[in-house]
Amino acid sequence: MTTTPFRRNDLASGENLCDHCPARCCRYFALPIETPTAREDFEHMRWYLLHGDVSVFVEDDGWFLLIHNDCDQLGADHRCGIYADRPAICRSYSTANCEFEEDACYDRLFEHPEQIDEFADALLGRRRRGQLASLPVLGAVS
Ligand code: SF4
Ligand code: SF4
Repeated sequence: MTTTPFRRNDLASGENLCDHCPARCCRYFALPIETPTAREDFEHMRWYLLHGDVSVFVEDDGWFLLIHNDCDQLGADHRCGIYADRPAICRSYSTANCEFEEDACYDRLFEHPEQIDEFADALLGRRRRGQLASLPVLGAVS
């Protein structure tokens, strides 16, 4: 049996699109990051991507770190637990251009460290693996 997904055009007058959504916009956040130009910049991105549930995307020449993580205030019913006191960014968000259909398409999307490596290699030339002694040692215990 096939099921036809609910689309926003199916919404009846007076209905709220969010009532048909598993709260997709509350399950991640994204922060702008510097446009990478040097190998060190890509190395930082490779470090981001070595962590789970993290992506990097590019949209309109802007680079963003995308963290896939549910908001702590999101309930099992997909409702906001602090709706009356939700942050300004949540208040300003609307269904007009939201990700309800989950069909977002970025200019570039990096989900694995190898993808950033390949991109940097193509841009800057292939780096020698394991040859970055001049970079700071992140996570080191002093
Ligand atoms: S704004 Fe869009 S993505 Fe967020 S809960 Fe409503 S329908 Fe879903
Ligand atoms: S505070 Fe509420 S509206 Fe904002 S991300 Fe969390 S659950 Fe969603």
